[in-house]
Amino acid sequence: MIYLDYAADTPVRKEVLERFNKVSETYFANPNANHALGKAAKACIEEATLKIAQQLKIKPEELIFTSGATEANNLAIKGVAEQYGRKGKHIITSYLEHSSVTGPLSYLQEKGFEVDFVQIMPDGRINLEHLQELLRPDTILISFAAVDSELGVIQDLRAIRNLIKDYPNCLFHVDATQAIGKISVDLELMDLMTFTAHKLYGIHGIGALVKKEKIYLTPIVHGGLSTTPFRSGTPTLALIDSMNTALEFALKEQEACYEKVLDFNQQIRKALSGYPEVYINSDEKVASPYIINISLKGIKASEMQQKLEEREIYVSTKSACVTPNTPSRPVLALSGDRKRALSTLRISLGHLTTQEEIHCFIEAFDASYKELK
Ligand code: PLP
Repeated sequence: MIYLDYAADTPVRKEVLERFNKVSETYFANPNANHALGKAAKACIEEATLKIAQQLKIKPEELIFTSGATEANNLAIKGVAEQYGRKGKHIITSYLEHSSVTGPLSYLQEKGFEVDFVQIMPDGRINLEHLQELLRPDTILISFAAVDSELGVIQDLRAIRNLIKDYPNCLFHVDATQAIGKISVDLELMDLMTFTAHKLYGIHGIGALVKKEKIYLTPIVHGGLSTTPFRSGTPTLALIDSMNTALEFALKEQEACYEKVLDFNQQIRKALSGYPEVYINSDEKVASPYIINISLKGIKASEMQQKLEEREIYVSTKSACVTPNTPSRPVLALSGDRKRALSTLRISLGHLTTQEEIHCFIEAFDASYKELK
C-alpha cells in the first residue's frame, strides 16, 4: 500500500498515541474540578499549553483549543465579524481557501457582510496589486491560507501584512493548516492563525486558533469554563497534550523532512513532465514540496485515481472536504480553464514517504496512463 494523500490526513505517530494513552490514564479528572485530581489535571494542561506556545513562539494565553481547523477557521472569521462588525462589514479572501473559510464567509454574506475575492496570479500567489485595490477603511478582516490545500502554493505573508499596515481596522487571519510542521511560519505577521493536529501526525479532534492578545472574539461555542473564555467545554487534556508531542516531532524533523520531500517532489515532476498531456498546476517556484496538483487532459481524474487504487496507491482528486465532480476552485482561478479544473489529481507527500514508494508511483502512473489513453 502506498499512501500519497498526506494533505488530507496523516497516520498518528506512535509516540503521540502513547502520550495520549498515558495522559488519559493518569489525569481522568476534569481540569476545572476544584479538588486535588482536578488541580493536577489543570497543571498538566497548563504545562502542555506552555510547551505548545513556546514551540510556536507565542504566549500561552494566545492559544484557543478547538476541535480542529474547521472550528478554528469558523471561530476566527465569525468571531471577528461579530466582534468588529461595527467598524466595517468588508472581508477579503481568495479562491484558494478551504471550505472551512469560504463556508463561514458565505454565511456572513447572508448576514450583510461584503466578501471580495482577490485575484490570483498565474503561479497561484495572491495578486498584491488587486489586494491593494480591494482594501478599504471598512475592511475588518483578510483571510488567506499560508499554504492552500489543493495547489500547495506558499503565499508571501510578509508582503500581505505590509499592505494592510495602513488599514488599522483590518485583521489578518492565516489558515496555516498545511504549513505548520512543514515550512517555517512567522506568527509575528498575523493576528490569528489556524492549525490542526491530524495534519501533523496527531490525533483527530484537536486543533487551535492562535489569537493575539489585543484581539477579542465573540465565541461561537458558548457554555461553561474552559481554558479560555473564547471557547467553552471541558478542556480535552489528553488531546491537547498529544498535540504538543505531535508538534514537537514535526518541528524537530521539519528541515530534514522538507529536504527529503523536495527531492521526491522533483523526481515526480521530472517523470510527469514527460507526458505532454499532463499539466502540473502547482508551480515549482512557489509551491510547497508536500503537494503536487496535476491535470490530465483527456482522462477523467477519478478514473486515474481508481486505476492507481487498483495498484494500492492512494491519491486524491481534490481537497477531501470539497464536493466531488465539481471543478477545483483553485485550478479554475489559476487557469480559467474549466476542463483543467475538472481533471485534477493531488499527490501529497509526508515524512513516511520512501524512495521506493516514489519509484512505484511513477511506474504505476505510467501503466495507468497507458491503460486510460
Ligand atoms: N484548512 C485547510 C487548509 C485544510 O487543508 C483543512 C483540512 O483538509 C482544514 C482547514 C480543515 O481541517 P480539520 O479537518 O482539522 O477541520
